[in-house]
Amino acid sequence: MPPLTVRLATPRGFCAGVERAIRTVEESLALHGAPVYVRHEIVHNTHVVARLSAMGAIFVEEIEDVPPDRPVVFSAHGAPQSAHADAEARNLLKIDATCPLVLKVHSQIRRHHRSGRTVILIGHRNHPEVVGSVGQAPEGAVILVETLADIAALPALDGPLAYSTQTTLSVDETRDMIAALKQRFPEIAGPAKEDICYATSNRQEAVKAAAAGSDLFVVIGSRTSSNSVRLVETARTAGAADALLTEDAGEFDWSKLAGVETIGVSAGASAPEILVEQFLTALAARRTLRIDHIETAREDIVFNTPLRLAG
Ligand code: SF4
Repeated sequence: MPPLTVRLATPRGFCAGVERAIRTVEESLALHGAPVYVRHEIVHNTHVVARLSAMGAIFVEEIEDVPPDRPVVFSAHGAPQSAHADAEARNLLKIDATCPLVLKVHSQIRRHHRSGRTVILIGHRNHPEVVGSVGQAPEGAVILVETLADIAALPALDGPLAYSTQTTLSVDETRDMIAALKQRFPEIAGPAKEDICYATSNRQEAVKAAAAGSDLFVVIGSRTSSNSVRLVETARTAGAADALLTEDAGEFDWSKLAGVETIGVSAGASAPEILVEQFLTALAARRTLRIDHIETAREDIVFNTPLRLAG
């Protein structure tokens, strides 16, 4: 069996927003005891959710499912204003783990709405971050577009316009969509700095560098994780012969290794590094590995948790 070259992409895995959200649930459990309720999966990763559940977190979709005497943590993806209002109306102890970079998009949308602009949001329908962002303004005030075809199909829009984007989109596709928006609506206002977050762009850049020449590219992450799914697409576009998402080494279809001499590996922003280590260990049990570290950026961003700030 020939040795296997592993092109290991860096940065990969946890971003500052995910680390903060997980620490927020851990600190809430330490401070308030179990159970602590969490609105939606705190981050989109099955392993993270299972570990926090075992510690006493209870994940619910609706505020009405939270008992009156227990705290509720809002997930990293952010929530519509109506969910915050529901929690406040019920006098629940609310702990907001929304990523600060998502909160930045929320305040941008609210500001545009206050100044009379219609907001066009580029994002994926039904993704919780998009639901939260659309819900920063009254119904109908934010128009969602997912594709270039959606932009072409927009009616003529009266009055001033602005655009925002989901934080975890494909950098390249979003660039094309923003260009199409500006072509249709030359006066449209946009963010001073793009809404796609540093972690999403850094992980996509690293995957692009690692994917070239890979026979197979494996992204560790959950199927619900938007940024992980984008990494698979990025690997394919950047030249990997094949690319796939796997939850962990246990789920991976090892028959895919047949004929592979170079494999690229990365992990989505919500996937713990231990899953990458376990995947590499499982690879090493089957083939002799040569690991090439493909590092395209260094990250040192840390966000304080809301509890730490309050303390
Ligand atoms: S992927 Fe980006 S926006 Fe989402 S939690 Fe991480 S840093 Fe925040």
